[in-house]
Amino acid sequence: MPRLAVVSVHDVTPAHEDRLRRIMVMLAESGVTRTSMLVIPDFHRGWDLRSHPRFVDWLHQLEADGHEIVLHGLYHSDPTPSAGTVYQKLLRHVYSKEGEFYTLSYQEAVDRLTQGLEMFTSLGFTPCGFVSPAWMHNEEVVRAVQQMGFRYLTSLGGFTDLTTDRTIRAPAVCFSPRTWTAAAISTLYCVALARLVDQDPVVRIAIHPGDIVRPMITARLLSILDRTRRTRRFVAYQDLLEAPVR
Ligand SMILES: [Zn+2]
Repeated sequence: MPRLAVVSVHDVTPAHEDRLRRIMVMLAESGVTRTSMLVIPDFHRGWDLRSHPRFVDWLHQLEADGHEIVLHGLYHSDPTPSAGTVYQKLLRHVYSKEGEFYTLSYQEAVDRLTQGLEMFTSLGFTPCGFVSPAWMHNEEVVRAVQQMGFRYLTSLGGFTDLTTDRTIRAPAVCFSPRTWTAAAISTLYCVALARLVDQDPVVRIAIHPGDIVRPMITARLLSILDRTRRTRRFVAYQDLLEAPVR
């Protein structure tokens, strides 16, 4: 069986349209013609997809070309920034303040998933996967995602098939473009991680809009993609549901 690689494009919203278009061109030039695109219905409550028909048309074109549309939160901003345990507060502080689903209850998660799905349906998208913003969620959220009929969920460390509870361990190679220092450290980390997971059945490469404006990240990303392309087939997350991989 050929080894697989999933490239996920995060934070797909009209707010980042220019960067996203550059990323998709870069990926096409690198031979990546199938990705999972993590789309936010209304980024920060100011970028409602329904107000951006040209962007939605572009997503439909990408889907027709073989890319997968995945639901990625509803607003991508944390509604409960001071909730949670001491550990959750700390992690949120050092890792991300955008963990929208991190401390939601089951019902709150169901409500947001319902809104996101309704919006997607009205725009003609039928996602089978969900990825929490910043990969931050809790057990109640996982239960809600499963209950709402999603077939898979991903975390920083792997991919879970919610129909069978099978988890494929595959830590995401993910850069941090926020500051120059974070970019430099994450570049070293990602190069090391890419080597570490080289023999794994599935490799995951996560790309954020900010990656394309950091030349040091773009350069490393291109070399990782080039090496990956030589030994693996690029698939979308939804393809892992059918793949005989553990
Ligand atoms: Zn995100």
